[in-house]
Parts: sequence; C-alpha cells; structure tokens
Amino acid sequence: MHFWTYILCCSDGSYYTGHTDALEYRIAQHEQGAIPGCHTMDRRPVQLVFSQEFGSREEAFLAERQIKGWRREKKEALISGRLDLLPGLARTASQPVLRQAQDERFLRTADVQKQESGQIPKQGQMQQQAQDDIDNRRMRQALALAQRAEHEDDEIPVGALLVDAEGTVVGEGWNRNIAESDPSAHAEIVAMRQAGRALGNHRLVGCTLYVTLEPCAMCAMAMVHARLARVVFAASDPKTGAAGSVFDLLGDPRHNHRVEVQGGVLAEEAGKRLTNYFRRRRGRPPID
Ligand SMILES: [Zn+2]
Repeated sequence: MHFWTYILCCSDGSYYTGHTDALEYRIAQHEQGAIPGCHTMDRRPVQLVFSQEFGSREEAFLAERQIKGWRREKKEALISGRLDLLPGLARTASQPVLRQAQDERFLRTADVQKQESGQIPKQGQMQQQAQDDIDNRRMRQALALAQRAEHEDDEIPVGALLVDAEGTVVGEGWNRNIAESDPSAHAEIVAMRQAGRALGNHRLVGCTLYVTLEPCAMCAMAMVHARLARVVFAASDPKTGAAGSVFDLLGDPRHNHRVEVQGGVLAEEAGKRLTNYFRRRRGRPPID
C-alpha cells in the first residue's frame, strides 16, 4: 500500500497539508468541498502543488506534521523543489510541532543498539504514544463541541467528532435533542448523519468516532450499523453506557460487525463538565 503527503494551495493563497492512501480521490474530495470542517472548504478552488509518496502511513503522517510546523517560506522552498534551501531554513520555524516531528525523526534514525538497551522506546511504543497523542488532540476537539452544546443550546454537554481513516474530520455533532425536538439527536448521531451525507454513504467504514461520554444503546447500535472501525470515549456512563458499563453492544460477538473501543481519554475533564452542567441547572456552584 502507498501513502502520500500532499500540499494544496487554496484560493486565498494559504497552504493545506494532508496525507492519504488515495491521492486522486482525496484531492477530488477537497475540490468538491466534501470534507466538512476542513480548512479547504471555504477556500476553493484548490490546487495540488506538492505530493510525495511513502511506504507507510506513519511516514506520511510524520511528514505531514513536520510540514505543518513549517513557516510559509520553507513550505515554498519544498514546493518549488529547492530542497537545498531546507536545512538553512530548518531553524526558522518556532512551532513546537516541528520540534516534535524532528525529535521523532531523530528517534527513528537512532541506532538499534540504543533501542535494544532500552534507552529509547521501541517502534511499537512510539506508535502507541503517537496514537495516544492523536486521541488526546481529537478528544479536545470533541470537548470543544460539548461546550457548544451547553453554551449555544443549553443542552447536556456531549460532543462527538468523526474522523476518517486518513485522519480527516468528516462529521461533528453535539447534543441537539431539545433544539431539534428529536429524541435521536445525540451528539454521535448528529456527527454520523453529517458524515454520511458528506461521504454519500451510510457505511462509515474505517472511521473513528470520538465522543465525550460513553455511548448509549441507540448510538452504539447506529455505530455497528455504520461499520465504524473504532470508538474513543471520555467519561463512562454507569447508568446507560453501552460500551461496557451497562451493555457491551460494540463488542458483542452476536453482531456481524464489532467496533474497537477505548474509554477514559480525558475522562476527568469531560466528567467534570457534565457534573458542573447539572450542578448549574440545580443552582449549585461548580466544582473545580
Ligand atoms: Zn446516545
């Protein structure tokens, strides 16, 4: 399988960097504005100005993160093929993401002896750490959506973010039950509906859903029907949770599809937000 890191030039002159395993398809999605929430949505037409092929998703993702940390001058050197200029520009970026990417690159090229002696983490541990970083970052975005539920609609603060296999956000949602007079308008359902429409498919194969509260039975079954690959949730719900707390619908072997589950990501923060919402409704002061 092949992966690409690519740079698009948007209509306002800004650059967008991404990675994908299906370059032509992904570029067509950007061109058609089929990726909700994407930087390119309101900046079309877009033009592919750079792409590089890699042998693994990890390498393509690292290159994406590294380029994202570069300032414009350095991106332009890469786009114009002036690779000789890159080292000279290396220290011009100040964003921590570049430093992080560089550190990872040094780790990757460090000699194997160090790895074997346990001085630096092995590849598997690094991949786990990279995945944990991604999960934390995505859950922060879901928490921001939960805040919108509370602030904009005065609904229970639950937010959900749906990300496709390439790491692109394809759906966002927060609780809209009261606003929509819709018993099914849970954050997860809202995000999945949006993604289904955007992708033109009721199957969301390969997607990961981040949600700030353990899904209920309704949402869990919708995730099974949608063939989601993975669900990451923050706070557990001991009363109605269907990802292990009360029911275990996502991993039930009797279903024809099982969804990988991970709970507890930023659980404390999500739980506190829910607690404070209900305290506020009862006229009580928030807890820290
Ligand atoms: Zn639900």
